[in-house]
Amino acid sequence: MVYDVVIGLEVHAELKTQTKCFCSCKNEYSKVPNSNCCPVCVGLPGALPILNKYAVEQTIKAGLALGFEINNTAIFERKNYFYPDLAKAYQISQLEKPICINGHLRVGEKDIPINRIHLEEDAGKLIHEGNQTFIDYNRGGVPLIELVTDALKEPHIETADEAIEFLTKLRQIYIYAGVSDCELEKGQMRADVNISLKPKGSKEFGTKVEMKNIMGFKSIHKAIEYEIARQKEILDDGGEVEQETRKWDFEKGESYTLRTKENAEDYRYFPDPDLLAVKISNEDIERIKSTLPIMPGELKEKYVNEYNLSENDADIILAEKEITDLYNECVKLYFQPKTVANWFITEILARIKGGAKLDISKENIVWLIKAVDERKIQRNSAKDLLSFVWGTNLSAEEEAKKQGLLADLSDDFVVEVLNKVLEEKAQVVEQYKREQDPKILNFLVGQVMKETRGKASAQLVMEKLKEKIE
Ligand code: ADP
Ligand code: MG
Ligand code: ZN
Repeated sequence: MVYDVVIGLEVHAELKTQTKCFCSCKNEYSKVPNSNCCPVCVGLPGALPILNKYAVEQTIKAGLALGFEINNTAIFERKNYFYPDLAKAYQISQLEKPICINGHLRVGEKDIPINRIHLEEDAGKLIHEGNQTFIDYNRGGVPLIELVTDALKEPHIETADEAIEFLTKLRQIYIYAGVSDCELEKGQMRADVNISLKPKGSKEFGTKVEMKNIMGFKSIHKAIEYEIARQKEILDDGGEVEQETRKWDFEKGESYTLRTKENAEDYRYFPDPDLLAVKISNEDIERIKSTLPIMPGELKEKYVNEYNLSENDADIILAEKEITDLYNECVKLYFQPKTVANWFITEILARIKGGAKLDISKENIVWLIKAVDERKIQRNSAKDLLSFVWGTNLSAEEEAKKQGLLADLSDDFVVEVLNKVLEEKAQVVEQYKREQDPKILNFLVGQVMKETRGKASAQLVMEKLKEKIE
């Protein structure tokens, strides 16, 4: 049978804030377990939450970066369940009135509709060692945004590749907007994947299976392909897919049942009586909008249309914000966007791919590119110098001088340039021979000065020119 695949994503990202979502504990990684905790974030009886305003602003910012509508009133609700990493047996989350609704993100030719982004608190971490389990509540109460795509609307995500493109773009936008660092190894961005299959063209949706908290894009890709194949086999055999939550086993490369049937009703959501409704004014929204930097999509347009970079080169420069920022700084200092892009791709990114950490100043980069353009230095020497000053505080210019790499404009070089000019301007030379107009000589000297970017001595050029012509 041929099936339509329907994929819905729920993506969690830890917000970048100074403090946690409902208390003043630090929102930062600590090696010492339970060192960033207080009665609120471990849920002691009687402790009251106080909302972190900045976490709300960061959520609004994430929404605006993705074109969401922002609700003027948002409500926090309790999602009730017990698990050892959640000591108070409920998570503060949002259900009916999240902060952001109705967004979208472009994947290939598809504008994928997104239902919502809501703000909630993260849970602690269980650490399993041998047959003992420890709990670290440092992550408990860290502000988390959850984004949910709308798989039941058209167009939706249909393949593992599209899911990964969605996540890659989303991550880039969050990083650009400064709302989350989205470091995947640290679990700062995690996705649940919902998948169902239905007979091709059927209007009715199939039963969905959810795979929770898969870490890393490669695993997500694998888990999706695995699940599509698993459901296809069940349906082909005339069986029924059971609604369940499955866990992806990273090492075995397969998934297993975690629990069956779980719906929103099971969590007995209700508005948290300890927290007031959040009022978000249109002025707040406008103010936050004005703090958004230009997003990668807009930058790409600028690179392609104004800077004449190819789409592919633009994508390469835009892949990591650290690189994009440095590129923009360099172009500001030396407005040769194509040349600078070439250097970034062939020299700088190549070094980073080889394992180097980005550690070079914009001044050094620009000096090297310019020196090659102005023929002050050989391209190969410039590459060597780039390696030499990388990761140091040395100045490329000083080093070029010290190492004797600067080309000096020898008389021979000037004559070489002069000969070239005379050859190219043979007609002008003929004209001078007829008219003997000194303005024509000045013009030719000017051409040589232009070619040597003013580095030659005009007197010397005039001398040699007269010699040649007469
Ligand atoms: P739950 O309450 O189980 O978390 P939601 O309704 O919140 O379920 O949906 C979670 C995600 O699953 C959303 O992205 C949603 O669009 C998607 N989804 C819902 N139904 C299906 C389905 N039949 N097939 C695939 N994805 C689905
Ligand atoms: Mg869910
Ligand atoms: Zn706390």
